[in-house]
Amino acid sequence: MKAEPYDLIINGGGLVGASLACALASHGFRIALIEASAYDSKNQPSFDTRALALTYSSGTIFRNLNVWQGLDESEATAIRYIDVSDAAAGGLVRLRSEDVGRQALGWNVEAQALGKQIFRVLGEFENIDLLSPMRLQDLSFTESGILATVRENRGASVQSLSASLLVVADGSNSALRDELNFSAYRAEYRQSAVVCRVESDAPNRGGAYEHFTRSGPLALLPIGERGYSVVWTQEQDELKRTMQLSRSAFVESLQNEIGERPYKLRNLVGERKIYPLTLSHLKKFVRPRVVVVGNASHTVHPVAGQGFNLALRDVAALAQVLSTHRRRGWDIGSYDVLIRYERWRSRESNQVTGFTDSMIRIFANELPVLTPARSWVLDLLQTAPPVKRMLLMRTMGLYGKQPDLASEVQ
Ligand SMILES: Cc1cc2nc3c(=O)[nH]c(=O)nc-3n(C[C@H](O)[C@H](O)[C@H](O)COP(=O)(O)OP(=O)(O)OC[C@H]3O[C@@H](n4cnc5c(N)ncnc54)[C@H](O)[C@@H]3O)c2cc1C
Repeated sequence: MKAEPYDLIINGGGLVGASLACALASHGFRIALIEASAYDSKNQPSFDTRALALTYSSGTIFRNLNVWQGLDESEATAIRYIDVSDAAAGGLVRLRSEDVGRQALGWNVEAQALGKQIFRVLGEFENIDLLSPMRLQDLSFTESGILATVRENRGASVQSLSASLLVVADGSNSALRDELNFSAYRAEYRQSAVVCRVESDAPNRGGAYEHFTRSGPLALLPIGERGYSVVWTQEQDELKRTMQLSRSAFVESLQNEIGERPYKLRNLVGERKIYPLTLSHLKKFVRPRVVVVGNASHTVHPVAGQGFNLALRDVAALAQVLSTHRRRGWDIGSYDVLIRYERWRSRESNQVTGFTDSMIRIFANELPVLTPARSWVLDLLQTAPPVKRMLLMRTMGLYGKQPDLASEVQ
């Protein structure tokens, strides 16, 4: 069978793999995007009903990719302020978009709605072949590239491909990453997140709430006019009890946990879903002909909503490194090219992974000795505007060397 020639094979067409295909599409690369679940199937794990808090920088990247333009206002809700509070230490800090001179700190968008727009853009490019629902069957490396075969799920159809570069983007449990011997640091949080949507009795006005409780962080992010998407982290025993509550008792329990706020939570919309939480991190994420991105490269706790945002900046940087070096006539799968990407992105990847993990260890910890430390952090943020600004710039993805796609004037 003659192998169909591509520049890149991306294994995994979830949020990150599909965004990468989008970012590379206009540079003329021929791309095979292999995805195990049909993107519009109910079981697609990446584009589900979960809402994602996107940073200011992610909004800019998606605008430059023409993805954002397809989302209507009800699908992308601006986050104008975040109230951060701690149940044990007391106190509250408000982080506002005005503190950094921006119209919004970020946006809250349903993953499904975002996926629809990413695939709309992908559909406009003839140089991208979406091979789905399909999986890699065989893979071998030659001197000058990669040979692969893909097989249709539950079907007999097999295709043969060749490419210069393989991108591993198939999520936290990537078997391909493990087969290729990338060694990851892993830890279990012994916590899971209950994710759902609730409606309140008052307009949300773009307000978000991050409340640290004994068992873990609870986040409410504005969606639509009166809605909030909820990410409630709990330990396993507590989670079992929470999931057994009736819908109204669940909303009551949520209101008790979040405490007095300028609104009353009224009802649960749709179902509650559970996501187990893990930490994993690759120190080295490239080798000749292979690069690992997204959750396969770093899976972080959703406490600060950084996982996909970090990966999207990686995607923008990778697209820039590959397109620049191809223009100069380099082999995009060569280690000399890929190491430039790794050197650019490894510092931020370590910082974001370390930052989210420390937040969990300090804020979601019952040790009484840590209560004054939490109180001190919140006081510092309240009384020192430069510290507040620095934190905001970091969490908005607006620091360090920015990829061209994150620039507001393209
Ligand atoms: C509760 C929760 C809330 C979150 N909130 C936020 C947030 O607010 N902001 C934020 O930035 N991040 C958030 N995240 C993180 C975000 O969900 C991840 O960063 C993102 O899903 C990573 O995308 P990915 O494409 O790397 O992996 P995935 O989303 O896991 O996608 C992997 C894709 O690969 C496909 N696949 C798997 N195996 C194969 C195979 N063998 N062959 C082909 N295809 C395969 C899958 O079908 C899937 O489409 C949150 C995560 C959780 C759990």
